[in-house]
Amino acid sequence: MSEPNIVLKKTESYLNHLLARGVRALPALAKQSHGKNEALQELSRTVLPCVLCPELAKSRKSVVFGSGNPDAKLMFVGEAPGFDEDVQGLPFVGKAGQLLTKIIESIGLKREEVYIANVLKCRPPGNRNPLPHEVMNCEPYLKQQIEVIKPFIICALGNFAAQTLLKTSTSITRLRGNWSIYEGIKVMPTFHPAYLLRNPDDKRKVWEDMKMMRDELKRLKS
Ligand code: URA
Repeated sequence: MSEPNIVLKKTESYLNHLLARGVRALPALAKQSHGKNEALQELSRTVLPCVLCPELAKSRKSVVFGSGNPDAKLMFVGEAPGFDEDVQGLPFVGKAGQLLTKIIESIGLKREEVYIANVLKCRPPGNRNPLPHEVMNCEPYLKQQIEVIKPFIICALGNFAAQTLLKTSTSITRLRGNWSIYEGIKVMPTFHPAYLLRNPDDKRKVWEDMKMMRDELKRLKS
């Protein structure tokens, strides 16, 4: 028998041995995802009934916690749920969300591979801007999500996400395209997909930013 065949036979026999003993997943991998899933679920049990912002708690249909892969290497952070997100309880599912999906796919990733969350977990009535005290109340939830997920890169979508994470009042026009750091994690600010729907000419700039994130992900994974 050739060398590769012997290795295959040995691997098969070892896997059969594990199966016979009732093992259905390799412990190291299972434990890692399990831990992050559990931690996010536990955090969601605090976030979902949150009433720290009485106006938002009263007007919301859902609390939009976030969605995606708890092991994501790339995490997107938006501003706050809009109408569709409030109805469905999921981030970025409206028109801007459809564009975000295309943006993610433009660098060869699937939406399910990344994690998507917002600074605010509740929709501000009439899609008004988040108020400073609302950002202050909600930011710790985002911080904990980031701590659990530990992405390699955070893509901050638009002014609110970038300014909240980076503690700056500099506008997204000046921040985008430049790496920053949040708690030791690389942050790439870029334009919000809702802005791109109104200003399609700026899609080229977002493509430039996405390419930088794609290249950095490749570098960090290798
Ligand atoms: N805009 C955001 O910032 N977040 C969403 O989830 C939807 C639209």
